[in-house]
Parts: sequence; structure tokens; C-alpha cells
Amino acid sequence: MTSCPICQKHQDLNESIYEDQDWIVTHGPVGSQVLGYLYIEPKRHVENWSEFTDQELTAAGPLIKKLEAAVKKELPVDRMYVVTISEAVRHIHFHLIPRLHDQEEKGLPLIQQATQQKSDHVLISEQEMNQFKNNLKKHI
Ligand SMILES: [Zn+2]
Repeated sequence: MTSCPICQKHQDLNESIYEDQDWIVTHGPVGSQVLGYLYIEPKRHVENWSEFTDQELTAAGPLIKKLEAAVKKELPVDRMYVVTISEAVRHIHFHLIPRLHDQEEKGLPLIQQATQQKSDHVLISEQEMNQFKNNLKKHI
């Protein structure tokens, strides 16, 4: 489905954090200003939970576990939020959003900052984010 931004992204993708037969993991955009913000997306265009195969969903749990462990090796994560809405983009996807120890922003404002790239300040550069991605891959 070429009108789908996630399918399009997978087609054009030259670098992922992780990939297996069912899932692709990429890092969120620098505009989110959240290091360790990850997207987990099924390779297939799936819009409803009932369309998933059992195998796809069975693989998602251990993948979330693996990704949280990897992010925790790089960042002082207190809580790892796992959010899936798939409203604006219907291709179902998970957002993994780390909330760090001593971080003021939490809950819905942090989810909004990540998913809608609503950050008041720029603290993380593209270069820092790329470095983070490379470090993260070593733990997966
Ligand atoms: Zn799609």
C-alpha cells in the first residue's frame, strides 16, 4: 500500500535499529528530542489487531523486552512507555518512549512531545542521535 507512510518508509529504509521477518524497529525523529524513542512496526500493512498472525504478535512481546533492556544500557530509564494508537497513520505501530530518572516531563505531555515532535528546546543534535542509534544496535 504505497499511500501508507509506514509502508513507504519501509520501502525506502536504508537503516534500521533492528529487523526480523515480521518487525522493523527504527528510531524516532530528532524533532521529538527524546533519545531512545523507538517505533516498532510490522512489516505487513496491518490496520486491525485481528489481522495479525499469532506468530507476529508472539514475536512482539520478547522484542519489547529486548529493546527496553538495550535502551537501559544506554540511558537511565525509570519507565518505558509503550503506546499504540495508529489513528493518523493506520498501519499499526508501537511507540516506545523512555522516561528517565529525574525527568520532569512525564505521562501524556512526554508522549505528546515524542509522538508529535512538540519540544520547546533543542538539546539533542542529529549527530548525537545517530551516535545513540549506533550504540543501541550493539546491545540488540
Ligand atoms: Zn502500511
